[in-house]
Amino acid sequence: MKLKIILILVILTSAVSFLVLKYEGIFYQPTGKLKVVTTLFPYYDFSRIIGGDKADVSLLLPPGVEAHSFEPKPSDILKINNSDIFIYTGDFMEIWPKDILDGINNSKLFVVRASDGIKLLTTNKAIDPHIWLDFTNSQKIVDNILLAFLEKDGQNKDFYIKNADSLKASLADLDESFKSGLSDCRTKSLVYGGHYAFGYLVKRYGLNYYAAQGLAPDSEPTAQDLSNLIKEIKINGIKYVFYEELSSPKIAETISVETGAKLLFLNAAHNVSREDLNKGVSFIDIMKEDLNNIKIGLECR
Ligand SMILES: [Zn+2]
Repeated sequence: MKLKIILILVILTSAVSFLVLKYEGIFYQPTGKLKVVTTLFPYYDFSRIIGGDKADVSLLLPPGVEAHSFEPKPSDILKINNSDIFIYTGDFMEIWPKDILDGINNSKLFVVRASDGIKLLTTNKAIDPHIWLDFTNSQKIVDNILLAFLEKDGQNKDFYIKNADSLKASLADLDESFKSGLSDCRTKSLVYGGHYAFGYLVKRYGLNYYAAQGLAPDSEPTAQDLSNLIKEIKINGIKYVFYEELSSPKIAETISVETGAKLLFLNAAHNVSREDLNKGVSFIDIMKEDLNNIKIGLECR
């Protein structure tokens, strides 16, 4: 197992550097901040809001990288090994942490499975990992993350609880604006030229979802899949087809050429581009833009 070998190397390397640097007296440079490592953008964004200036939060995914095919580098494993809190969805989304966490050399690490306590949806017998796209789930994710902060730094309990409460209130408001914004639309059919990412969202707001690919953007849609989408657009006079973030919009463009439907962006927020990261865009900002585009796409009043 390649990961195991990397892991052993990392532990050996960190043991050696520990001895060397301890001798030099520079190994411990405590910032006094909690070190939090996250796998996906929503967990990164929620953690930095909860943790404020009392946490160093990092996102393992480099900006602009597609989330489903991500594999950690040795330096990422070292980062997890040196952190206080590690947050990922669950073994059905990120398949690599299980091996790493089994062998990790850090008994103080608090591991958060963001999906804990969330009712998981399945499609074609596989678990849909995009739990953050139902904003009642997102509030549970905030609670799961908060628990780790309270466990690791109880001294600042009130600070973390206050931040988490205000974040949950904003997510509840977001849910309300989706509910009211999507209550009166000419069509309920959301046609997506990307992978099946919005299953939770369409279920929550009673929409119909037609996605070109399965649960991950790793396979080309079949001719049959494409022809079903094109048929849906033509039968229902749908005017817009959505394309996804950080992947080629080729499929949506093909559908657009075939049907005359215009392209609209719909961001599932697995990760963000470098530009958005630099702008400090939040999960809630992304979802508000999505709501605007869905309202255009489904011709809502
Ligand atoms: Zn996805």
